[in-house]
Amino acid sequence: MAEVAAEAEYVPHHPQKIALIFSAMRHFAEALRERGWRVHYVKLDDPANSGSLPGELQRWAAQLQADEVHLTECGEWRLEDQLRRCDLPITWHADSRFVCARDEFARWAEGRKQLRMEFFYREMRRKTGLLLNGDATPVGGAWNFDAENRKALPKQIKGPMTARFPADGITREVLALVAVRFSHHYGSLESFDYPVTHAEAEALWQHFIDFALPAFGDYQDAMAVGEPFLFHARISAALNIGLLDVRRLCADVEAAYWQGRVPLNAAEGFIRQLIGWREYVRGIYWLHMPEYAERNSFGNTRPLPEFYWTGKTRMKCMSQAIGQTLEHAYAHHIQRLMVTGNFALLAGIQPTQVCDWYLAVYMDAFDWVELPNTLGMVMHADGGYLGSKPYCASGQYIKRMSNYCGDCAYKVTESVGERACPFNALYWHFLMRHREQLSGNHRLGMVYRGLDKMSEAKQQGLWQRGEQLLAKLDAGEAL
Ligand SMILES: Cc1cc2nc3c(=O)[nH]c(=O)nc-3n(C[C@H](O)[C@H](O)[C@H](O)COP(=O)(O)OP(=O)(O)OC[C@H]3O[C@@H](n4cnc5c(N)ncnc54)[C@H](O)[C@@H]3O)c2cc1C
Ligand code: SF4
Repeated sequence: MAEVAAEAEYVPHHPQKIALIFSAMRHFAEALRERGWRVHYVKLDDPANSGSLPGELQRWAAQLQADEVHLTECGEWRLEDQLRRCDLPITWHADSRFVCARDEFARWAEGRKQLRMEFFYREMRRKTGLLLNGDATPVGGAWNFDAENRKALPKQIKGPMTARFPADGITREVLALVAVRFSHHYGSLESFDYPVTHAEAEALWQHFIDFALPAFGDYQDAMAVGEPFLFHARISAALNIGLLDVRRLCADVEAAYWQGRVPLNAAEGFIRQLIGWREYVRGIYWLHMPEYAERNSFGNTRPLPEFYWTGKTRMKCMSQAIGQTLEHAYAHHIQRLMVTGNFALLAGIQPTQVCDWYLAVYMDAFDWVELPNTLGMVMHADGGYLGSKPYCASGQYIKRMSNYCGDCAYKVTESVGERACPFNALYWHFLMRHREQLSGNHRLGMVYRGLDKMSEAKQQGLWQRGEQLLAKLDAGEAL
């Protein structure tokens, strides 16, 4: 096992993410040794460390005079490409952390003009047998209860206390190393409280089932000031680095439903995220890399605004989402999709810069999952291959799903003028400037009809306000 600078630095990863991975690796090496395995472990500051995984693999293969090298498929195309170029007798093994193997997804996708997550998800439900009746029909009479999962958070409801995991000696040593070596990366180390072993990840998971899963479905899309986690599981990082197993998680959620501990919309919603979205985005990634990463269907060129790295903006929704990202290396799905993502889409930010930001700042971010979510779902840069319509929205959506707007320097009810919510005019500006590409999309038909019903003067006003906001971004000003 090797801690290498190349992996920690190819984008400026959040210090908590680097700390999590190194600490989990050191704990796992200890656990393996206790079980009698021989582990060669190279620390980051070891003078013999070559600084890259291909470098370490070649060094150790030579040192141990290896006849065979066994590798698990990588999470990232970039790394797998580097390793496949090594002149070593490598045998590759499928990554057992997923329900759907890469070739199985490719077979499912073959011959389909358009892929849709919903159909893939049904296949995965049939394959796993999760939430199925004896006759293979879905429990509750429908495959998907998403329509029930869009409630705003009532004032009197708060998310449960989060499970916290204090740093032990190994983690403290890693935190000290990361603080020195990666001090120039954005994000705080101070609030690190994440599980670093299987046992701790299991405790985080049980805490979620007991205290948050029952309300997960209802408030899945809700956002609130000062509530970074609400009813979300916060397990993605532990799951992606192998501290939790996806099949076990799904079985636990299903059992909680049958025991009457959680409603169906929560259980189905959660299982859909795991065996639906998570596996679907991975499948698309491996099907289309490396060219997928270059797609830019809107031809965006605008650089990522500096406030994505500092959170210094008067837009309350953005400062909340970015602020908690810097503090916890975490934002939940709707914050990523409908706040920071929506803004980047409406403002026409260059997709690779947006992707690099998401890859750097989130604890759970690895190329196979971050890239399709950002480039495909958020930026629609694949021209609608992953999702059928861009997730664009005005400030009205954010107002409906959060209490951010009440506490914002901008007025969500206004679209033009200095104090008007930037999301409003940028939303219409986005639709106007991409009319040719988007007006034929049947899911946007009503929106374009609404635009066409507006007076010429109103359309002009929205366009001008949009131009003014984009000019501010181009001048490097924060909004
Ligand atoms: C722009 C953007 C970038 C994202 N980047 C990542 C990323 O780098 N890594 C990552 O793991 N997730 C990513 N997601 C998906 C999702 O936002 C996170 O998985 C989720 O917020 C993690 O928090 P949680 O564990 O509390 O999730 P919960 O809301 O409690 O959901 C449960 C689990 O479902 C899975 N899941 C849900 N949605 C998705 C999805 N769209 N794709 C893949 N898995 C999903 C995750 O494993 C998550 O832990 C991204 C979403 C967007 C919109
Ligand atoms: S008014 Fe606009 S910018 Fe402010 S919080 Fe609401 S949606 Fe965000």
